[in-house]
Amino acid sequence: MKKILFFCLGSLLLWSCEGKTQNQAKPEPTVKSKTMNDNAPVQKTEEEWKQILNPDQYHVLREKGTERPFSGKLLENKEKGIYVCAACGNELFSSDMKFDSHCGWPSFDREIAGGKIKIHQDTSLGMIRTEIMCARCGSHLGHIFDDGPTATGQRYCVNSLSLDFKKDEPKKK
Ligand SMILES: [Zn+2]
Repeated sequence: MKKILFFCLGSLLLWSCEGKTQNQAKPEPTVKSKTMNDNAPVQKTEEEWKQILNPDQYHVLREKGTERPFSGKLLENKEKGIYVCAACGNELFSSDMKFDSHCGWPSFDREIAGGKIKIHQDTSLGMIRTEIMCARCGSHLGHIFDDGPTATGQRYCVNSLSLDFKKDEPKKK
């Protein structure tokens, strides 16, 4: 009985294969691109973060600290490039979004693409502020305010310690 079943299945497979080769119009199955995982969540224990980040970065990114104003290495950065999360490398802002807010921290008027940043109501220090976090790893970036001077009206106020800068490569001729 089993043999017959296998034979039937075999014939069926053979038939379906032939069917495919005859019908050339069938579209190829789409290959999943590697970039599909770009927004996959990054989850690490606090011990693992401590291994990766220096103590200052750890304090800001994982303990929601704030660097001293006007102390950050990226505050005056005017070079063209991409700002990424210092913890997980998630692309967050481009240099085109940076503006000089005179507030002491790097400021941007929008995120590089929707869904890169998540927000959370922060009621610490007796203030109601909107905290911004990397959507991929949950690390603290800074706060967002609606007093921006550009068309978006938004000011993403971000710690330099929460960011890494990837300078644009000169275009190859
Ligand atoms: Zn991140």
